[in-house]
Amino acid sequence: MRTFDCLIIGGGMCGLWTAYFLGESGLEVALVERRTIGSGSTGRSAGIVTTQLNLDDDVALTRRSIELYRSLECDNDRPIYRETSFVTVEPEWMIRDSMEVLRRNGVRFEVASCYDARTLLPYLRVKDYESLLITPDDGVVNSENFVECARSLLKELGVTIIEWDTVSSIEVVDDSVVGARLKNSGITLKIRQDLILTAGPWNKQLLKELNLTRMPTTVYTCQLLSLRGEFSSANAPCYFTEDHLYVRPLSRDTIVIGNGLARIVEDPDGVPVRPEPEYVWEVASKFEKRCATTDKVKVGGGWVGVCSSSPDGRPILGRSPFLENVYIIDGLDGYGLMRAPALAEVLSSMILGRPTEIDPTCYHPARFDVDREYGDRVIELY
Ligand SMILES: Cc1cc2nc3c(=O)[nH]c(=O)nc-3n(C[C@H](O)[C@H](O)[C@H](O)COP(=O)(O)OP(=O)(O)OC[C@H]3O[C@@H](n4cnc5c(N)ncnc54)[C@H](O)[C@@H]3O)c2cc1C
Repeated sequence: MRTFDCLIIGGGMCGLWTAYFLGESGLEVALVERRTIGSGSTGRSAGIVTTQLNLDDDVALTRRSIELYRSLECDNDRPIYRETSFVTVEPEWMIRDSMEVLRRNGVRFEVASCYDARTLLPYLRVKDYESLLITPDDGVVNSENFVECARSLLKELGVTIIEWDTVSSIEVVDDSVVGARLKNSGITLKIRQDLILTAGPWNKQLLKELNLTRMPTTVYTCQLLSLRGEFSSANAPCYFTEDHLYVRPLSRDTIVIGNGLARIVEDPDGVPVRPEPEYVWEVASKFEKRCATTDKVKVGGGWVGVCSSSPDGRPILGRSPFLENVYIIDGLDGYGLMRAPALAEVLSSMILGRPTEIDPTCYHPARFDVDREYGDRVIELY
């Protein structure tokens, strides 16, 4: 039997960053992942990190996350964060509102006309009444590179990573979790300090399996279609507000596109692997109208992943209202790469009793009544 200060369940962006901060502070940490680390939503993301968001607190989280990605020392040939800028294409009158949020939050931005689009987004069509809102410090995260870097950093910090296993039951004494039994190995781990749930869209079913509280999150699928063709070296992801379409270049000849369509699901494991035909048709037709080189474009595949959303669209972060030493991060929506590092830092500071620059009050799990039916809801934050 091994004893750890903290046990983390779930090895995605949230779990890996939490393990990093707690491990760095000198605590003895174990992370249990039912498959391989990064194999959940983190490995299915489009990788876009942008400060062009509606809520001030999301802008703050994203800015901090960018700093944290940049701070990681990793293999230079396998960068984690690449500064590409992010471009929103929208009718001129809408840009004014979007600029206001950025100005209020001190985010650097530029506005360009539809004529500048010929150099900035040469393979795309921008209408003459549209303008471009550009945030030059935004970029993209390569999840695969992040996961490999996290694996080696956590090893250096002495964090124990247990893959292909999960927790089947917990031992509770005086409202605190003191031990957890692993399902496949049958080993019991003793917990000196805290249990942290970072199983993303699977938190809901994990809480149920462990007979803990109910989580009022909505679990839904998100799909991406990949296209092959002759695009360009322009690498900024962009979002067309009018068509509700986002485009993320992966290389000169491959891009992924999506429209944020959310299909609510009961079971996050029962989702298809490939995008549904109706989805492919819809996003491909939208893209066709925006693409300047359609004759050479071919559908290259795509993938589906799951996300979870809270009833008010804000993340859920903090101590469980029912047990003294159980913490959770959930409800990151389709914006988890932007939010996870900063949220994990806040959670780790709470656990370590350190002050945080970001006020976590609005994320507290206790703001929801677990006995109430909130109904399924997915909130768009762009
Ligand atoms: C198609 C798609 C595109 C997206 N694009 C973007 C984007 O461009 N930008 C952005 O910011 N966000 C994006 N997201 C959202 C982002 O990927 C997620 O919000 C983020 O990865 C969530 O991280 P997480 O750590 O909370 O969850 P996950 O990455 O899902 O991690 C949870 C982990 O817990 C493990 N687990 C589950 N149950 C158990 C258990 N019982 N025991 C042990 N382990 C368990 C899972 O295997 C998984 O590895 C996208 C998501 C999808 C699906």
